Amino acid sequence: MDAETATRILNAVDARFDAQVAFLAELTRFPSTRGNEQGAQEFMAAEMASRGYSVDRWQIDVDEIRALPGFSPVLGPYEDAVNVVGTRVGTSGKGRSLILNGHIDVVPEGPHEMWDSPPYAPRVDDGWMYGRGAGDMKAGLASNLFALDALAACGLAPAADVFVQSVVEEECTGNGALACLARGYKAEAALIPEPFAESLVTAQVGVLWFQVHLKGLPTHVAYAGTGANAIEAAIPLIAALHGLEDRWNGEEHRHPEFAHHHHPLNLNIGKIIGGDWSSSVPAWCVFDVRMGLFPGQDMAAAKAEIEAVLMEAARENAFLRNSLPEVVYHGFEAEGYALAEDDSATAKAAIGALEVAHNAVTGAALDRLAITATTDARFFGLYADTPALVYGPRAEAIHGFNERVELESMRRVTQATALFIAGWCGLELL
Ligand SMILES: [Zn+2]
Repeated sequence: MDAETATRILNAVDARFDAQVAFLAELTRFPSTRGNEQGAQEFMAAEMASRGYSVDRWQIDVDEIRALPGFSPVLGPYEDAVNVVGTRVGTSGKGRSLILNGHIDVVPEGPHEMWDSPPYAPRVDDGWMYGRGAGDMKAGLASNLFALDALAACGLAPAADVFVQSVVEEECTGNGALACLARGYKAEAALIPEPFAESLVTAQVGVLWFQVHLKGLPTHVAYAGTGANAIEAAIPLIAALHGLEDRWNGEEHRHPEFAHHHHPLNLNIGKIIGGDWSSSVPAWCVFDVRMGLFPGQDMAAAKAEIEAVLMEAARENAFLRNSLPEVVYHGFEAEGYALAEDDSATAKAAIGALEVAHNAVTGAALDRLAITATTDARFFGLYADTPALVYGPRAEAIHGFNERVELESMRRVTQATALFIAGWCGLELL
């Protein structure tokens, strides 16, 4: 691509940027938490159709993906889990194909009174857009579409097939991205604009979710000594899990990409419920855990170790000893993934193309980042032999109150994405 074409593409992003910000606000208005993504997906499908892409919308069928590597178990039905993919077929067939992926689901916003303004009434202040999902990752979804729009505005199109994916389930299982693979969507590289401050993600941890179910012995609190408190029994079990977390984070266990990160694997007690009545010793307690894993760490071995730690702690408890906890797996069984370990020529070429694009927009070298969260990149990298580049805008307070995304950062990422598409796929006349 010559310098003049690159400049035309960058200017085309600028020319549409106000429309892109309006698009992001409209998309952020949808409270697309798990199970409530339909409106946002309808909007995405309509936007893709209006651009002339062929649109594929389908409900995820658990039976079609259950046996595939990377599947995460789910509780409850998938009647409301709908993926959307827009396809633009290249006519010249001379370039390299590309998946532009993003997730539409957002995490619950928490108590609204803790937000400075309502989470689904996006507002712009001092160059940032605030709203649940604005950063994670609706700005990325906007970037994918508007990068292609910029090419079209120049009378250009990718010289290969491009698939724009808007998937569900990223925040709890990844089964949306897995369902795209199962449906046959493949390309030579994937780009996922998750909000990691314009850095290229070289490694991501794995994530395992599980619930621990505890029983107790209910009595009137007047005779508490004769009962067994299921809620208080959880406390030493949680401490034992943190002990395992400390061990796994030990320097000798660390994956090389995380060698300089002092605590890459985080254990979180995300939820706890139990008991029925203030004056009754609680007969039950359930707590939900999220634990990180390193790339390459074996999932089955990790589960076995977690269960062993829990059972050992439970045997210290006079009641639990004879009524051991039950561990229920639901949600993430996500393996870690390290793009840095992909030494294929394709991966090198894709990273090289992104470096060139990033440098053309920012004038700076592309920073590398190992992240302590997971993304859908693992499906492409681990199960489809496709290098997955995670590269997106700067956002703050994702999963927190007053989540926000920096609009100038979204502009730069959109420009870099447009140049990346041009460099990776090549260009043909529209
Ligand atoms: Zn995300």
